[in-house]
Amino acid sequence: MSEPNHPPRKLRPSWAAFPMFFDAPHRALGEECEKIGDDDVALHDPPRVIPRLGELGLLQLLVPANQGGGAWNAEGTAVDVRALCVAREALAYSSPLADSIFAVQGLGSHPILLAGEGARRASILAEVVRGERVCAFALTEPEAGSDVASMRTTARREGEHWILDGEKVFISNVGIADHYVVFANADPTAGKKGISAFLVDAKSEGLVTEPIAMSVDHPLGRIGMKSCRVPASALLGEVGMGLRLALGTLDVFRTSVGAAAAGMARRAIDESISRVTRRIQFGKPLSDFQLTQAAIAEMATELDAARLLVCRAAWEKDQPKGDAARGKSDGVSVAMAKMFATEAAQRIIDRGVQLFGGLGVTEGNVLDRLYREIRPLRIYEGTTEIQKLIIGGALTAQPR
Ligand SMILES: Cc1cc2nc3c(=O)[nH]c(=O)nc-3n(C[C@H](O)[C@H](O)[C@H](O)COP(=O)(O)OP(=O)(O)OC[C@H]3O[C@@H](n4cnc5c(N)ncnc54)[C@H](O)[C@@H]3O)c2cc1C
Repeated sequence: MSEPNHPPRKLRPSWAAFPMFFDAPHRALGEECEKIGDDDVALHDPPRVIPRLGELGLLQLLVPANQGGGAWNAEGTAVDVRALCVAREALAYSSPLADSIFAVQGLGSHPILLAGEGARRASILAEVVRGERVCAFALTEPEAGSDVASMRTTARREGEHWILDGEKVFISNVGIADHYVVFANADPTAGKKGISAFLVDAKSEGLVTEPIAMSVDHPLGRIGMKSCRVPASALLGEVGMGLRLALGTLDVFRTSVGAAAAGMARRAIDESISRVTRRIQFGKPLSDFQLTQAAIAEMATELDAARLLVCRAAWEKDQPKGDAARGKSDGVSVAMAKMFATEAAQRIIDRGVQLFGGLGVTEGNVLDRLYREIRPLRIYEGTTEIQKLIIGGALTAQPR
């Protein structure tokens, strides 16, 4: 049987599929992002990703207009979560590596945006936007994962310096980062109220890094700090602000993890449709069999359910502060979006592998790569179980 002569159908990105959640600048951004192709080789090579994202103008999304970044929303005073979602869905579709490095660039610059000071903050953020500085966010420790407040890394003041001691694990962008935002306890007697954030240069005396090999080729590693000496000015904000800065940063970026998952799942569906309409078995394309159609139907429906949750959470986050009537987020929508989209994407990609048959588990196959790429999204920035605790805890909380 001959190959079909029409190109296989592709699903639309969220900004086009659900236009009611987006404004004109998001659509313009989305159209630009659609030009990013698999053949953009710099987006597949860790050290070249951030300079390339700078060239593409995407790093402007990480800094609001009033701080030297892009104006995606009318006010230009906050990072626009829908713009992050548009970019991450597109990047994850073509290069999950670039998506991950982009997201960590945001995590490792947002605390500076929130608590950095004056001219120094402006010059660092300008480097972030131009792609001249690679950022990282160092919260997790061997004994403090989901329970971040139990961290053991300490910071003590010595004259005009802070001395950091401790270990961080599973830190993205290790090896390519120019700085780490390190969370450490500067007043252990105050418990979690002593947790503070420090801007630590990657070349700081007493700081060592070591890569952690992953099932996908992403830069990930461990940071050891032994009498690591940083200037007094490395403290972001005040002693005790660290947990607020960490959780505030994760709160902005968590919804976009769902968008990245949706990008990978959409790619899996596009690839699956292309495959089943071409693969002939029993004398006809696999797509002629109703079981195949049912699989595609379920994958596409789950994707849209996930994307609608992501769009709702992102839209809520972008509403002006204090506008309760417009549904300002309380964290539940964000947790639902992150949990459902990452779990659904895993199921969708797994179905895609099944539709590809043996080919789907071979090295170099796009479904095999997506199957490995999607897995960490259910773990980082709050595991699925932690999202359930957020949702369940909020819904069952007794009014005070
Ligand atoms: C690819 C990747 C990149 C990462 N990048 C970064 C980074 O850049 N910076 C950074 O700081 N961290 C990073 N992390 C770390 C990530 O945030 C942690 O792995 C995550 O928070 C979980 O911590 P843990 O691995 O210690 O698991 P644990 O906290 O030990 O959890 C293990 C299991 O127990 C479950 N669990 C924990 N507590 C409860 C509970 N109360 N009730 C029910 N179940 C529970 C969890 O859901 C999980 O299933 C990254 C991780 C990965 C995989």
